[in-house]
Amino acid sequence: MEEDKLQFHEMGLDDRLLKALADLGWAQPTLIQEKAIPLSLEGKDLLARARTGSGKTAAYAVPLIQRILTSKQTVREQAVRALVLVPTKELGQQVQTMIRQLTAYCSRDVRVADISGKADLSAQKPILMEKPDIVVGTPSRVQAHVNAQNLVLNSSLEMLVIDEADLLFSFGFEDDIKSLLCHLPKIYQAFLMSATLNEDVQALKELVLHNPVTLKLQGSQLPDGSQLQQYSVKCEEEDKFLLIYTLLKLGLVRGKTLIFVSAVERCYRLKLFLEQFSIPACVLNSELPVHSRCHIISQFNQGFYDYIIATDEHGLEDPATSSQKSQGKGNKKKSGKGGKGKDKEYGVSRGIDFHNVSNVINFDFPTSVDSYIHRVGRTARADKPGTALSFISHTELLLLTEVENALIGDNTDCVLKPYGFKMEEIEAFRYRCRDAMRSVTKQAVKEARLKEIKQELLNSEKLKTYFEDNPRDLQLLRHDKDLHPAVIKPHLKNVPDYLIPAALKSLVNPLNRRKRKQKPKGATVMRSSFKKNFRSKNPLKSFRYVKKKHTEKKAKKS
Ligand code: AMP
Repeated sequence: MEEDKLQFHEMGLDDRLLKALADLGWAQPTLIQEKAIPLSLEGKDLLARARTGSGKTAAYAVPLIQRILTSKQTVREQAVRALVLVPTKELGQQVQTMIRQLTAYCSRDVRVADISGKADLSAQKPILMEKPDIVVGTPSRVQAHVNAQNLVLNSSLEMLVIDEADLLFSFGFEDDIKSLLCHLPKIYQAFLMSATLNEDVQALKELVLHNPVTLKLQGSQLPDGSQLQQYSVKCEEEDKFLLIYTLLKLGLVRGKTLIFVSAVERCYRLKLFLEQFSIPACVLNSELPVHSRCHIISQFNQGFYDYIIATDEHGLEDPATSSQKSQGKGNKKKSGKGGKGKDKEYGVSRGIDFHNVSNVINFDFPTSVDSYIHRVGRTARADKPGTALSFISHTELLLLTEVENALIGDNTDCVLKPYGFKMEEIEAFRYRCRDAMRSVTKQAVKEARLKEIKQELLNSEKLKTYFEDNPRDLQLLRHDKDLHPAVIKPHLKNVPDYLIPAALKSLVNPLNRRKRKQKPKGATVMRSSFKKNFRSKNPLKSFRYVKKKHTEKKAKKS
């Protein structure tokens, strides 16, 4: 623990908050928390640029809760005192969860409600009627409730937080934010949190902040080389599949891994390809219902899955243009505006807190520097180490240079090192990969995509109703099951020893190659209790022969 660092218990925080912080196991504040919490407790407006994963949610949530606890000592009247605007539903849920953890010992005094979800306005109305102290929502959702007079902010609001402000703009929430500001009181304390301080954010700063303190905490927006290792490896389309197969199948990539691709269609192509080798992975994209997306993230965080194949915000654009771009027919910056059937408020690479991600793999390279930072920022969070590996085809070389130039700045630690992998050593696997690719036809991808959406919609309904009453069963619903529209060739499941390159033999984890299917605890419990019930109800299984001595004697007498 750094001695000259201001500690949580030196910030004048309520004991209940300190206890919750201790329960979270946070030994000391992160840099942004150390700077932002005291300033906001003094009542200052803040504009903070902190790299993603720096602990910025608690940097505003802690002072929010502290101020509400303080003001409740004098004014007991229930009112909405704080509003947190977020760009996505996933982030809304995450912020709510963090606030709930921080208010674990004062949940009666500080109530929080996340209204960013897709439920009907009327279904959310009763929640708002109770005037939760903190309301979290997307600008459009909050605006809709204000218009419907379910939410009145102009008298009671004391604090406004705009989280991931740069993303709010790129998602087109500018007008909603501006019209919302007309419904706020004249005086309130405001926090603007953003990964990048671009022109849009500067403009927003003029609108909402009064004499703010600006915190630009890190020169680099990603952790340095001691915490985050960044690599790139040159490989063309077919080689990308060959390499990912080798990395995952031979267990050369260890720990939880996020694999980013450029389009929804690519998610399924890769999932079906991996399925051919019995490598389970989940798919996460803007087409899936929001409940499923949140569920996937929460299960991933609980350690159910090792691999998620995700599109980032570019999954929002038209898949046709996106696949064109991924094939190198253009590399202009993408617009990020919504495509048909996609969720405008979807955001995987931004803001979402995937826990303990060891690796981020850019299967397709991101199309902007911002996007690279947000994707790679999913690993090496707080003080944990992480690795980012980018596959680069010749059409992505320019983008790589762009990212490298932007990252280097004054921090030479940040460059992407070449990944020392000899592609020629894995040539022996090429035939298997081609074999697998042949089964992953356009039609199979299309079918998988439809099947997954149908399956997830069904799950989603169940999640909403059934799982509300049965939270334990929630665990049983896995999202990395095989989709199977492609023909499975059983021999591809195993890797014969003679195919493993000599140089990799010592690295290959024998455990990874053994048949093993980890089941969540719940599933095991379910299975054994099912067996028990089955046994007790099935007379053939439950029948026990017991010799009854006295009945035998009676029979003899008669
Ligand atoms: P955020 O940048 O708010 O998304 O937080 C990133 C991650 O850092 C989350 O998983 C937090 O639980 C974690 N975190 C936040 N503050 C601290 C802290 N003071 N010590 C350790 N972990 C933290």
